[in-house]
This record gives sequence, structure tokens and C-alpha cells, in this order.
Amino acid sequence: MEYKNYQNYRAQLDNGSVTCLDTVNAYLNNIEKNAHLNAFLEVFSQDAVDQAKVVDQKIAEGTSGKLAGMVIGLKDNICYNGHKVSAASKILEGFESIYSATVVEKLLKEDAIIIGRLNCDEFAMGSSNENSAFGEVSNPYDTNRVPGGSSGGSAVAVAANLCMASLGSDTGGSIRQPASYCGVVGLKPTYGRVSRHGLIAYASSFDQIGPFTSNVYDAGLLLEVIAGEDEFDGTVSTKAIDNYTKLTNKKYKIAVLTDAVEHEALSPEIKSKFAEVIDDLKANGHEVAGVEFPYLDYLVPTYYVLTTAEASSNLSRFDGVHYGYRSPNATDLESTYRLSRTEGFGAEVKRRIMLGTFVLSAGYYDAYYNKGLKVRGLIAQKTQEIFKDYDFILLPTTADVAFEKGGKSDDPIKMYLEDMYTVQANITGVPAISLPIGKSKEGLPFGLQLMSNHFTETDLLGLSKELMKEIY
Ligand code: GLN
Repeated sequence: MEYKNYQNYRAQLDNGSVTCLDTVNAYLNNIEKNAHLNAFLEVFSQDAVDQAKVVDQKIAEGTSGKLAGMVIGLKDNICYNGHKVSAASKILEGFESIYSATVVEKLLKEDAIIIGRLNCDEFAMGSSNENSAFGEVSNPYDTNRVPGGSSGGSAVAVAANLCMASLGSDTGGSIRQPASYCGVVGLKPTYGRVSRHGLIAYASSFDQIGPFTSNVYDAGLLLEVIAGEDEFDGTVSTKAIDNYTKLTNKKYKIAVLTDAVEHEALSPEIKSKFAEVIDDLKANGHEVAGVEFPYLDYLVPTYYVLTTAEASSNLSRFDGVHYGYRSPNATDLESTYRLSRTEGFGAEVKRRIMLGTFVLSAGYYDAYYNKGLKVRGLIAQKTQEIFKDYDFILLPTTADVAFEKGGKSDDPIKMYLEDMYTVQANITGVPAISLPIGKSKEGLPFGLQLMSNHFTETDLLGLSKELMKEIY
């Protein structure tokens, strides 16, 4: 089964050369053949088949929605009414959602077909998908390597053609970094562009839902559908939703962060591809210039102080009483909390709850949490200064190609540095996209990242379209 983009598939649906049912069956078959990748935690086979029949009928009657027949997977931290959702954690094993996330409601309203829930790092904490309580996910380009994280399953599902698109969440890079490692498009919208209602919270002032796709057109189309105001999320914007699939070519001013490109961690192959892209952009009439960004080394520490603080608060609701797992060894209230959390959470989640509790504790609040907030302000200010003069910031998504499984799991600092190029967009709330721009000599994909100012996704997708011509 060949899938180019939704527009192309839609034309085939409309002229009757394919049906949603055949398409779903083909994907179910592919999922079964690729079970070893461990991308899906659960396949909603029957639901998908039933929905495909309904949508085929609607297409025949001319009443189908904007995403009719688009086969989509959901990261396992996005709630879907009547379906299990676990955030890849033992503490939520067996828990069934009693409502749907706003993004899911919007997808279904436009007749998308949801095919299953996708593996990820526990509570979206990680960069390799090795923190899932339900096993690691393999990179389809080399199964000894990680797919990236935390939305590893979402990236692999698109890369291995197990569905047309997927949703993930990005708190510090969890859409863009796995997109880079798996050779797909990953878009983190502006903070507040998409409702977070029904997304299991990790760090609420950073979290944002976004699409993984095989092409730029689908990323715009999905954003158009999932964006917009929502009475259930007080942080979501009421700004009008642009037409993210009607893109025009413009000449832009693009900033390259010199410190990022000159960083010793950046692989020579990515660096040289980068130089090539810059030359092409200039040749096409864009203005590209190097700019200073003195805070590169402060991004990851700021991110980890603030997100762990928010996580320690968000995850306090998992207490063995309200949801999911309860320790069979508990004898009273105190041991119910203590044992359920001890047995239910994995090591990385516990590390972050402890770190977050520490930075928020009475004696250290000012030294860490408050200071982190101040540095967040400085980073935002400097980023805005750049956007006064430039339309885009261009930088790598990742410093290297996907690493080998186990390569970084016993060194949390090494793992946290995976996020060095991606967290700036989350700290400042601006949108960013990772585009599959190249492959290493060994054939492993890597991405290039574009950031633009708040709510300028149309430009972001416009330049992406120009850069990715062959996969629009
Ligand atoms: N790798 C980052 C972390 O571990 C980002 C995770 C995310 O974006 N959800 O926190």
C-alpha cells in the first residue's frame, strides 16, 4: 500500500479506487507483521474496521468529513473514551478512559479512523522509549537502536507505515526528536494552539499535542483539525485557525544559532548537511545569518528544574486510590499511597518526582524553582529579540542519529542532553517542526528543525513545504 499524502488518498477514495475498509485491513496486516517493533500497546482492530465501514458509507453519500478514512494512532497518554490509556505506566495498567481528549473528539468528528494506542516513555519522560513499563520500541531503520522518545511508538508507527499519521505530545522534544530518529515529519504547535484536555499531564506549562506525518501537507491538515479553542482548557488560544494547507512561497529571514551549529556534540554529517541546506536557502532568495544565543547551556537545566517541579505536582494524583494500580500489600492509607507509588512508578518517573519535590521544597524553592522561572524569562526574551529581526530560527533537531539501545540508560545527564536543541521551543512556547532532511552513511535518518514565532504555523509549514518538496 502506497501512501503519499491525504489529498492523494482522498482522491482515490472519492473515485472509488480504494475503500477505507481495505485500507484499514492493509494497515492491520502491516501492524501484525511489524509486531516486533513494539510500537502499538493495543490495536483497536474491531473499532477501526467498524469505523471504516461507517466512513465508506458517508463517502458514498457525500457527507464525510475533512479527515475521512485517515488512519491514525494515538500516543498512549491521550484519552479516548471507553479505551484503555496507561501513559505506558504500570500505575495506570488496566485503566479505561471515561472521556475523550478534545483532539480525539475533533479527529472523530472529521471521520478519522483511530487504529490503536502507541507505546511511549512512562508519563512521556524520556528520550529513547526505554522507560516504557511495556517494553522498549525499536527503530525500524535498525532494530538495535532506539526510536527516540518519548513518543517513540508514534514516530515508528508512521515510519514503518503502520498508520498514516499519529498524535504525540511534546514537552521538551518528544515529537521532534523521535521524528528526527525515524525520518518523519514531527510538529510541535505553539503552546496554546491545541487543547491539552484529555492529555495526561507531565508539565502543564510545556505540554503540547502535535502530529507525526510522512509529509508536510498532512501535518498542516491535522493541525487545522486539532487546533482551536476549547472550554475545557483555560490555556488554549481563541485565535482563529489559519488555513495550514494553503501555503504560499515567501522570502524569509532565517537565523542560525551559531553556538548550536558549532557545538562539539553535533555530528559532522549533520553539520555538513546543514551547511548544504543553508546554501540552498540562500540560492532560493532567503536571507540566512548567524546569530548569537548565549543561553544554550542553560536550556536543559532550566527545562529539568521546571518540568520536574510541575511533574511532581501533576503526578500526585496517582495515589493508588483514584486510578489504576493499587498495591496488594497495603494495609492502611499510608501504605496504600507509599506502596502503590513505589511499585507502580518506574525509576525515571520516581527520579523526577523526587527532583521536582526537592526544587519546590521550602528551603530550595527560591534557589531552584524561582531561579528557573527567571531564567525561563531571560530565554524567552532573547528568543523574542531574535524573532524581531528574523522569521525563523534554524537548528538541528538532534546532535546525532539514533543511538543504540542501552547506550545512555545508565547516565541520566547524557540522556537529558538529548534535548539540547528541542527544549528552547517548549521553554518559550513557540512552534517548531522537525523535517527529515537527510540520512547518515549507515542509512540512519536525521532531522532539521525550524522554529518560528508564536502562532506563525502557516509560515513554518510554508517553508517546510519548500524544503521538503518531494514529500509535500
Ligand atoms: N526528553 C524530554 C524529557 O525526558 C522530553 C520529553 C517530552 O517532550 N515529553 O523530558
